[in-house]
Amino acid sequence: MTWRNMRVWMLGMAFIVLAGCGPTSLDKSVSRLDHRPDWKRHGKIDLPRHPAEKHLQGWVIVLDPGHGGEAHKEGYKRGPTGVREAEMNWRVGKLLERLLVDAGAHVTLTRHGDEFVSLKDRAEVANNLERPDGGRGADLFISLHHNASSRESANFSSVWYHGQVNVSESSLDVARYIAHRLGTEMRTNVAVTSPLMSDQLMYAGGFGVLRQCRVPAILCESSFFSNHDEEQRLRDADYNLREAYAIYVGLCEYAYGGRPTQTPPVVAFDDGTLRISVVLDDGLPKDWWGHERDRTLSSTLAVYLDGKRLAVSYDPGDKTVVATAAHVPADTWGSGEHVLSIHHANLLKHHNYPQRYAIRQTADGGEFTVTALGPRRAKPAP
Ligand SMILES: [Zn+2]
Repeated sequence: MTWRNMRVWMLGMAFIVLAGCGPTSLDKSVSRLDHRPDWKRHGKIDLPRHPAEKHLQGWVIVLDPGHGGEAHKEGYKRGPTGVREAEMNWRVGKLLERLLVDAGAHVTLTRHGDEFVSLKDRAEVANNLERPDGGRGADLFISLHHNASSRESANFSSVWYHGQVNVSESSLDVARYIAHRLGTEMRTNVAVTSPLMSDQLMYAGGFGVLRQCRVPAILCESSFFSNHDEEQRLRDADYNLREAYAIYVGLCEYAYGGRPTQTPPVVAFDDGTLRISVVLDDGLPKDWWGHERDRTLSSTLAVYLDGKRLAVSYDPGDKTVVATAAHVPADTWGSGEHVLSIHHANLLKHHNYPQRYAIRQTADGGEFTVTALGPRRAKPAP
C-alpha cells in the first residue's frame, strides 16, 4: 500500500467511526418505521438485570414446573413430534429459579427432576413453607405449564387465577404483568383472547393446584406445544430462557409496585356496636418521593363481615380504618366463626394480602381471636 492509499484508507476508517458515534437523524429514525418486522419475528435474546429486581429481595416464591414422572405414558402431554411438556416446564422452572435467586428472592421448586408429585403436595409446598423470617407460607406460587389445543394454529399466552376475580385480587395483580411480558417476549398471538383466565372456565372447581393453595397463586400457560413451530422452539433451552426472563421481568415490575397489607384487625364491642379497626400499609417504599401523601385509593376500600358490607371510616393521616357492624348486636354474636374480609389497593392498583380473617369470641363473651385465612373460598365473594 502506498502512503497516499494509506491516507485515503485512514480517512475512510475515521469517517466510518465518527459516523457511527453521532446522534441518529430524525429522517433515519422515521425510515426505520418503513421496515418494521411483524410481531412474530424473534430478535436476539437480551437479558439485562432489571433495575427493579431489588424489590424482589426477600420474597418467598414457590415455582411449580407442571407434570413430571409420566414419560412412560404414551403420547401424554406431548407435542406433534413427541416433545414432552414436563421437560419444557422443568427447564423454564430451573432458569427462572436462577434469575430470581440472583435477584435475592428465596425460591423453592415443587419437584426435583422428572418425578411425579400430586397437585395437593405441590400446593402444600407453598402453604407450609418455612420462611426465613420465621413465618409459614410462600408469598407467591407460580405453576409453569404449556398449553395444547386440537386447533393446530392456536398459540397464545394466558395466565390463570382461581375462581372469581374478587377472591383473587392479589393473584390478578401479578398475573397481569406476567401475561403481558410472556406475550411480548415469546411473540405469541396476543390480543386474540383475554390474557387472564379463571380456572373455573376449565373445571367447575377450578384447577386442583390453585384451589388448594392458601397463598396468592397463578398458573402460566405460556404458549402451545401442540403448535408445530412452537413445539420446535420450546425444545430449545434458549427459548425457554426467553420465557423465564419474561416471567422474571413481570415479577420485577409487580414487586416494584408493592403489595399492600394491614395490621391484624382489632375487634371489640363498643357500646354494644361491633367495631373493627386496622391500620393500612400501602406496600410501597417509604423512601419514595411523596411517600407522606395518601397512596391508598380510598374508593377501593371495602370491609365485609360474613358477606355483608360494613360502614367504614378512613383517616388518610394515620391510615386507620374503622368499620362498624351495627347489625350485629353483642347478644347475637354467638360462639361460631365469622369471616371478615378487607380490601384496598394502592396507587399502582395493587391489592392487599391477606384479605380474609376468621374471628371467634370466647364462650363467655370475652376476648376475640383473629386468624388470617388464605385467599381461597368455595363460593364467590359478595
Ligand atoms: Zn400442563
